Amino acid sequence: MTKEAVNLKNLSLSELETWVLGLGEKPFRARQLARWMYGKGVWEFSQMTNLAKEFRKKLEASVWISHLEPEKIQTSQDGTQKLRFPLRDGNRIESVLIPERDHVTLCLSTQVGCALGCKFCLTGKKGFIRNLDPAEIIDQVLAARAHLGEGKKLTNLVLMGMGEPLENFDAVVKALEILRSEDGLGFSHRRVTLSTAGIIPKIEALFQRPRFVMLAISLNASTDEGRSRLMPINRKYPLKDLLALCRRLPLDRREKITFEYVLIQGVNDSEEDARRVVELLRGIRAKVNLIPFNEYPQSPFRRPEEKAILRFREILMEGNLTALIRQSKGADILAACGQLGGTPNPT
Ligand code: SAH
Ligand code: SF4
Repeated sequence: MTKEAVNLKNLSLSELETWVLGLGEKPFRARQLARWMYGKGVWEFSQMTNLAKEFRKKLEASVWISHLEPEKIQTSQDGTQKLRFPLRDGNRIESVLIPERDHVTLCLSTQVGCALGCKFCLTGKKGFIRNLDPAEIIDQVLAARAHLGEGKKLTNLVLMGMGEPLENFDAVVKALEILRSEDGLGFSHRRVTLSTAGIIPKIEALFQRPRFVMLAISLNASTDEGRSRLMPINRKYPLKDLLALCRRLPLDRREKITFEYVLIQGVNDSEEDARRVVELLRGIRAKVNLIPFNEYPQSPFRRPEEKAILRFREILMEGNLTALIRQSKGADILAACGQLGGTPNPT
């Protein structure tokens, strides 16, 4: 086995235990390792002082532990920070730290690029490069936590950075299990949200396991025609099927599905659109996040006028929907939704 072969962070906690047993060690050694890697964020065996020297030697000979270090951190006027990480193969990903009054949210990437090609999204424009492995997903969280330091606690995670998480299902599920577990990073499932463009069979698969994540769906249009134009994936998984699925998902008590709606001037921001959204979401426990389109260099679309945004929201609320206008954080450093490119900014 070469050193490249096994990165311990790519093992689930039960795989870690099996692997430790295979070395002839006691199961509690796996928990000790997990506590070092995830609890303390340590990646060097030499720092794991409560492990016997012999065991450390065995580890060093056969496995390694990854970590990510930001090569660039940009801070927005509103306090949002974009962390750019180089990966081992030379690709780059970005995560965004969003401090709010009583919590701090990290927006994570799950792929380098994205294959779904939504017309309004910079990540989509770049096309698909590759999936992240579980370790690369978890390492974004560990690096962000380390960057925050002692003073501020990372409280919430959203899988809304680069990539479509459900197109990288196995790695995302494995990472989420570790992020959620008490022996891992210990995030409560109410504080972890996965956003998808609507990959129906994978949403079903997600709900067939014990629940460990809140669901957000990128709606972004009020008709199939309009949605297919913006999001080609709608041709495969049209609105009717997607919303029928939402109606039968077994939600927890008081749980709601979040629907994201990117508001684009003259494209999907009319009063008729708002009324149709009310009709579409009837009977679904839904909350709508309106995201005024974030512009980027050469973006084909514009953000609507403030008046149109407020009117859109008003119609949703009159239709008894919870609707929030999501303040676009970090737009000045291209860290807002849909602005993550993973390549160096020209500035
Ligand atoms: N692939 C997943 C998650 C990443 S995209 C998904 O599509 O849901 C996260 C959110 O950013 C989506 O709701 C998407 O509609 C939104 N988004 C993409 N580009 C945007 C832009 N330029 N302005 C505002 N929101 C955008
Ligand atoms: Fe991919 Fe989401 Fe961007 Fe669409 S909006 S291209 S699914 S990252």
